[in-house]
Amino acid sequence: AAKGAGRGKHCFYEASMHSEASDRQVLENDLRQAIDKGELWVAYQPIVSAAGEDVCGFEALVRWNHPLRGKISPEKFIPLAEECGLIGRIGTWVLETALEEASKWPDSVRIAINLSPIQFNDPNIVEIVSNAIARTNVRASRVELEITEGVFLAEGDTTDETFAKLKDLGVRLALDDFGTGYSSLGYLKKAPFDKIKIDQSFVRGAASTTSRNSAIIRAIVTLAESLQMDTCAEGVETHDDLQLIRELGVSHVQGFIFGRPVEGLEARELAAKAVVVADGFQCLREPRQ
Ligand code: C2E
Ligand code: MG
Ligand code: MG
Ligand code: MG
Repeated sequence: AAKGAGRGKHCFYEASMHSEASDRQVLENDLRQAIDKGELWVAYQPIVSAAGEDVCGFEALVRWNHPLRGKISPEKFIPLAEECGLIGRIGTWVLETALEEASKWPDSVRIAINLSPIQFNDPNIVEIVSNAIARTNVRASRVELEITEGVFLAEGDTTDETFAKLKDLGVRLALDDFGTGYSSLGYLKKAPFDKIKIDQSFVRGAASTTSRNSAIIRAIVTLAESLQMDTCAEGVETHDDLQLIRELGVSHVQGFIFGRPVEGLEARELAAKAVVVADGFQCLREPRQ
């Protein structure tokens, strides 16, 4: 009997291993077809000036409505896309879709797009970005590419060159999820970032008195300011955190307190309300009284 149970257990284990692997395979195949089937779409989350609460841009965030499984988080399918060689196609589609959408907004409203390290290290990335800009006629300075520290881990010979060429195109560069990776200060020295996005893990709950996060945020702001970079606090959900973020001098805020990611049409309505200011970009407007 013991032998039988043991064997049964073993089989069960193998069966579950097998189903996990084939489950992944099925999902991979589904993802391969998702673009053509129209299952992917792009949501836009407002990024506002910390002082004035004006919408100064949106971050494009890809979404997948799976016909059987419902919504699948990008935290799950982006890594899958990276592993199975689909990220280039998906990323280019997001870039073109988001720029197309941004072309319908006032010229003062920016569009931020996430680039996977694999996309960034694609030898054609500069051409892909410049083609999308040319096709949609969006002013390059409205385009902000969000890159994580992962870019530097997979660093190739062409990384510095890619940064330089993207800057030559006139696009802005943001360092996303700052503080969660290796956070080598060398990255900040090397790469011409225009903005540091402070990761949510430092932002959420930062206002609680025992939090060490505010000290970290303060240090990041000081660093960013002396390097003439903007800062954006991600994941601001409460008024207490918002107030602290303002006191610490963070320049931009993104979080559910101001808006969740919404569909293109809704983003268009929000963007239309944006006010143009002196230098052409609303986010530099003077603080409200
Ligand atoms: P991310 O680039 O750091 O994007 C910010 C994430 O934080 C988004 O999650 C957004 O919905 C969420 N968020 C913003 N404010 C709040 C808040 O106040 N509270 C909470 N709880 N969450 C907030 P999302 O859309 O699930 O995306 C997760 C990650 O997936 C992104 O992190 C990014 O790394 C990746 N991702 C999403 N879209 C793309 C894409 O088009 N290309 C690539 N390469 N990666 C993408
Ligand atoms: Mg991002
Ligand atoms: Mg982030
Ligand atoms: Mg993130």
